[in-house]
Amino acid sequence: MSGRALAVGTLPAGVDRERFAARLVAAVRPEFAAEVIVPASGDVVLGTPACAVPDCGRASSRQGWCQAHFRRWDKVGRPERQAWAAAADSQTWGHRRLAGCRAPGCRFSQHRDRLCYRHSQDWRRDGQPEIHAWLAACQRQPKTDQLAASEN
Ligand SMILES: [Zn+2]
Ligand SMILES: [Zn+2]
Repeated sequence: MSGRALAVGTLPAGVDRERFAARLVAAVRPEFAAEVIVPASGDVVLGTPACAVPDCGRASSRQGWCQAHFRRWDKVGRPERQAWAAAADSQTWGHRRLAGCRAPGCRFSQHRDRLCYRHSQDWRRDGQPEIHAWLAACQRQPKTDQLAASEN
């Protein structure tokens, strides 16, 4: 390692580090003062056009799609773009709002069967009966009480 390489990034002699840092922060526009810069889709300099799926809103990165929509489109055999984009679900995993368990009074999020982990287990243990009747019976005997008791 040469002294020259180590000198990169150091300030010239006589420059006050604190004052230099303050002036630098004052000169940088707020959007560039962030630790990680995520350009908006359509940003003239840093951005790419928005994903072709209406209401997706994320920047395109592969053939006019965002990563998630590219994978979905690719997985179904790359059908005609416009029709697929119009019918596609704009929501993607990790950006989707967590949905609640369907069991009455349960405040946990869905795990599978559109039920929380515990209610899904109970429903499957009961032999996966018709869900609406099962949920109604659930309401009469709230499983959430058992859940709360088991967590204490
Ligand atoms: Zn997208
Ligand atoms: Zn539940």
